Amino acid sequence: MKRSFSRSKRKFLGGTMAVVAGTMVSGLAREARSAELPRVTEDEPTAVALKYVHDASRSARPAADQVCHNCRYFKGTQQTEWERCDLFPGKTVNANGWCNVWAMKG
Ligand code: SF4
Repeated sequence: MKRSFSRSKRKFLGGTMAVVAGTMVSGLAREARSAELPRVTEDEPTAVALKYVHDASRSARPAADQVCHNCRYFKGTQQTEWERCDLFPGKTVNANGWCNVWAMKG
């Protein structure tokens, strides 16, 4: 009986470790992909149209807490300096940036 419990415990821990390792590898792969993408420039047409800036403190944002890293379209975290955004396919935006499409991450 005790042996069976230990076996299931090992199986559970093994599965948990596999999930954790998979998540870490997935995160590293995502960061590597983002690092390969060009950074959006503030003077390109889409950025101008959306009033995108790399530094939100220079923007006309309506609230000081509106920043790319907490926007629903940002694919990274606050720790990710440059990351993909749904509004700029194939490019990355700055985590501390802002544009006028900003929407709170859900
Ligand atoms: Fe930043 Fe959000 Fe605008 Fe993308 S949509 S540039 S993440 S504020």
